Amino acid sequence: MSKFHSTVSRRDFMKALGMVGAGAAALTTPVFHDLDDMAAADMGNPKKPWFVKERELENPTMELDWTQIKRFNSKNSANSSNQFYDTNYPNVVTQAIESRKKWMLDDSPGCTLKDNALNDTIGLPTGSSAPWVPSATTPEKLGVPKYSGTPEDNARIVRSALRFAGAALVGYVPLTSNTKNLVFSNGFTFEDTPTGYSDPKKGSVIPNSGMTVIPVTSVTPITSLMVTPSVLGHAGNNLQNRLKGQASSTGSRFLAALGYDGLNGGIGPAPAFSTLAGGGEIARTGGGLISASYGIGVGTDTLVTNLPLAPTHPIDAGIAKFCCKCANCADVCPSSSIPTDPEPTWDLPDYVFSKLPGNTAQFSNPGKKAFWFNASTCRSYSISISRCNTCIASCVFSKMDSSMIHNTVKTIIANTPLFDGFFATMDKAFGYGNQQFKAGIGPPTGTFNETAVEWWTWELAPNGAEKRFFAPDAQ
Ligand code: SF4
Ligand code: SF4
Repeated sequence: MSKFHSTVSRRDFMKALGMVGAGAAALTTPVFHDLDDMAAADMGNPKKPWFVKERELENPTMELDWTQIKRFNSKNSANSSNQFYDTNYPNVVTQAIESRKKWMLDDSPGCTLKDNALNDTIGLPTGSSAPWVPSATTPEKLGVPKYSGTPEDNARIVRSALRFAGAALVGYVPLTSNTKNLVFSNGFTFEDTPTGYSDPKKGSVIPNSGMTVIPVTSVTPITSLMVTPSVLGHAGNNLQNRLKGQASSTGSRFLAALGYDGLNGGIGPAPAFSTLAGGGEIARTGGGLISASYGIGVGTDTLVTNLPLAPTHPIDAGIAKFCCKCANCADVCPSSSIPTDPEPTWDLPDYVFSKLPGNTAQFSNPGKKAFWFNASTCRSYSISISRCNTCIASCVFSKMDSSMIHNTVKTIIANTPLFDGFFATMDKAFGYGNQQFKAGIGPPTGTFNETAVEWWTWELAPNGAEKRFFAPDAQ
C-alpha cells in the first residue's frame, strides 16, 4: 500500500523539496516529477549500491579513538546486569511477570497467549550457538588435504556458503592490535597457539595471529516491526536470532569441514564488527546498525576463523550523517532512552556508570564519538513490556519499498546531507512508523499496537521473508 497517496499533494511535496523542474537542487540531484517517479527510479547497483563509498579499514563513519578502546566485560552490559544501573530493576522484573499474565488474560493486542507462544518458541534451534565445533567430517578424516585458496577466493566461497545458509550480510574483519580490543574480556583469551580451542578456565582460546572475524547478519521481518511494541513484535527479533544462529552455526561447521577454525558465538559488540566489515553504519538507536541494503532491524553473530580471508571495508552511505538531522526514533521512545542531540559526542554520560555503591561497572566504553543511549532505561522499559523495538520500527530506514527510503532517496542521502532533515520530517508526515507511542505512552499506560491483532490474519511468507530477503546481490 503506497503511503504516497496521502492528503499532502505529491506535487507540492516535490516542489517543497525543489525537485520539480529546474532549481538549485536540480543541479546536483536527479529531477523527478513526483514521488512515484522517485519510487520507479531504483538506481541501486545490485552488487553493492553504487552510491555506497568504501572507507579505509578500521575507519568507519563513527569516529573511533583506538587508543581509548579497551576490552569490555560483557557481564557489565545493561542487558546482563541492569541491577547495577537501575536499582529498581528487581521490582521491574517482578512487575513484568504480573503484566505479562494480566495482558494475556485481557487479550491485549500483541500480548495474548498466542503472541507469547510464538515469541517463546521461534528462537534459536538447539546447537545453533557453540564454541569451537568439532566437525563430523574434516579433510583429515576424509584423507584429503585441507582446502586452500587465495584470500579473495576464500572470501567468495565463505560468503556463498553463509548466504546459502540464510545470512543477509557477510564481511571480514582481521583481528589486529586494534580490533582485538573489541573482543569481550570475559570468556575469550588470546594465546600463541596454532589453533583455537575451548578451556574451562580460559574460555575460548583464540590464536594470536592470522584470525579474522566474520560478522553474520540477518534481518528482522518488517511485518514484525509493524506490530511493535508487543510480545508478537519481539517474535520477529527471535526469528532474526534464529536465522543468524542457523547461518553462523552452519558457517562454523563449514569452516571446520574445510580444515579451519570456526569459533561461533558473540565475541564482541556485534554492530561494531559489522560496521567495520562494511555491513552498515552505526545508528542513533543505541548503537544499532543500519545497513545500506536492508535498513535497520538487523542482527549479527560472529564467527572467528584462521582461513585467510580478504578483508571488507567500512562504508559511507550518508547514514550516520542522516541520524544527526533526524531523531524520529528518539521522539517515539517511550522511555526517553535515545538522546536528541544534533551531534554525537566523545563524552560518556553519567548514566552509563553503576549506581551501586562500590561497584565500578559501566555499560558502555569510551573511544567512540556516539549518540550515547541509555541502555539501562531501555532495558527496564523493554523488560516491563516483554521487549520494545518501537525506535527501530519508527526509523526512516525500516520501511518497505513504498517508504521514503528507497534507493533513490538513499542515493541523495549518500551524496549530500542537504535534504536529510527534510526526508526525516517527511517520513513522519506520511505517517510511517508507530508514532502513537512516545515518552510515557505504551502498553504500561494502556496503549497497545492494534495492528498486532491483524497480523494473525496476514498471509505471511516462510520465515517472515519479504522482498529484501530475496535481493541476491544486496550486500
Ligand atoms: S527499544 Fe523501546 S525503550 Fe529501548 S530505546 Fe528503543 S524505543 Fe526506547
Ligand atoms: S530514526 Fe532517524 S535518527 Fe533514528 S536511527 Fe533512524 S535515521 Fe537515525
